[in-house]
Amino acid sequence: MRIRIETDDDTHDCEICGGSYAYGGMVFVDDVLVVDKPASAHCFNGSSYNEGELLVMALKKLGHEVVVDNHLFHVTCHDDDYHGPLDGD
Ligand SMILES: [Zn+2]
Repeated sequence: MRIRIETDDDTHDCEICGGSYAYGGMVFVDDVLVVDKPASAHCFNGSSYNEGELLVMALKKLGHEVVVDNHLFHVTCHDDDYHGPLDGD
C-alpha cells in the first residue's frame, strides 16, 4: 500500500480580521483519492489540516483508528468523516 499526500494552502485577507492561512490537501491510497480537503482560509471557521491529520483521516476511512494516550488522534478542525456530523447547527 502506498499513501501519497498532496498538500494545499490557502490565504484569506480581510480588512477587519487581517490575514489568515490554512493548510489542506489530498490523500491517495494506491492512487485512489481517499481524503480531499482543500485548504480553506476564512475569517471564521476556516479549516486547516496538516499532513499528519490528513494521514490519520485517511487511515480512519480505511478502517484504522489512530489512538494517542487512549484518546482518538486529535484532528484540530472538524471533519464530518472523522468526527461524525456536528450536533445541531
Ligand atoms: Zn474578516
